[in-house]
Amino acid sequence: MIPRFRPTTGLAEFTALIRFWERAAVERHELAFAKALGQAHAVAFPYGRTGLRLLLEALELAGSQIICPAYTCVVVPHAIVTAGAEPVFIDSTADGNMDLDAAERAITPATKALIATSIFGHPVDLDRLAALKAHHPNLLVIQDCAHSFACEWRGRSVQAAGNAAIFGCNISKIATSIFGGMVTSDDAVLVESLRHHRDRHLQPPTRMRSILRGLYFVAATTAFSPAAYWLVDRLRRTGTLSSLEEYYDPDIIDMPADHLIGMTTVEARIGAVQSARLQDLITARRQAASFYRDALEGCPGLRFLPAPDGSSFSHIAALVADPEDIREKARSAGVEIGRIIDYVCPAMACYARLSVGQEWPVATHFAAHVINLPVYGRYDEMAYAKIVRRIRPILDAAAAAPPLLSSS
Ligand SMILES: *Cc1c(COP(=O)(O)O)cnc(C)c1O
Repeated sequence: MIPRFRPTTGLAEFTALIRFWERAAVERHELAFAKALGQAHAVAFPYGRTGLRLLLEALELAGSQIICPAYTCVVVPHAIVTAGAEPVFIDSTADGNMDLDAAERAITPATKALIATSIFGHPVDLDRLAALKAHHPNLLVIQDCAHSFACEWRGRSVQAAGNAAIFGCNISKIATSIFGGMVTSDDAVLVESLRHHRDRHLQPPTRMRSILRGLYFVAATTAFSPAAYWLVDRLRRTGTLSSLEEYYDPDIIDMPADHLIGMTTVEARIGAVQSARLQDLITARRQAASFYRDALEGCPGLRFLPAPDGSSFSHIAALVADPEDIREKARSAGVEIGRIIDYVCPAMACYARLSVGQEWPVATHFAAHVINLPVYGRYDEMAYAKIVRRIRPILDAAAAAPPLLSSS
């Protein structure tokens, strides 16, 4: 079974697992990350959502409204609520990103921040964002770059276009620190207060936790080899893995029990190695995206989401008429197709109270029809050609892909 993602590792990652007692590993990881992203500062967290929560708290945003996309990872509104603020959900445009015109219309005196998101690594329109910001100079802008490490809008770095940026670094992201997240910023005063807040609220991890994270990394890396992955798929289908895998209960707003335990040494050591690879990881994804676009051109069953130049392609996202049907058939052909966000956050039961009478037609369309194709941090044209050979007949025979919608 060909997995839809796989951490990109080499000898350096395995040497990084040794010396799990290194003292300043987290600081070293932060420096490497900031350098790789061209930002002055980076602050490490056990999860991206912990970084977002503590950032909102450090900015003293409890009680305010925070604008975020309806079509994003549900951990984002969960972090907003956990920080004591209220998410205001906005529909998407055709590339998957939040509609900034609608976002601007939603700003009220209680709105203090906006979470711009470059979903699937498609850069948010920084020109439109700058215009919005010019009309609302006090609005804080947080870039959610969990999907968009180092992506660019017309040559400008997305992560630098705001007060701070958050990153998710779990094993499925563009660069990984096993679990983990990061907040970057060029604002020294903000970073100082964020560090202070973090150091007061996060519990230090034990050395045993570091060792266990290292073992998890070895196990996960092994599991993603094509030979082993059929077993993973089997265990997943029989429900054996469900207690280990990320699972969202639509009825509750919660954070993981360990979200306030600091990043371990092993995670920081892996993260630092991955930062050194970042440009290569992104180049490989861009090559994959362009390979798929050429190889699947004219295929009636699939329509790629428009991806602006400068996209960093955490996912290669496309619309199909019936995602579950395609996924089942691709699985039989030995290829795992993803459905990364198959929900609309405000339509989840836990957010119903906040969104009575509202609709998100574009986000709803994406949730119903978006799939993502396998993509990795190392480019192997033969491997992608094999994937295309297996899925192209399925897509050629499928119902016509739905159109791109865009909000008014
Ligand atoms: C992964 C992700 C995050 C952060 O997730 P954590 O699991 O908390 O590290 C934030 N936003 C988006 C859009 C994501 O996909």
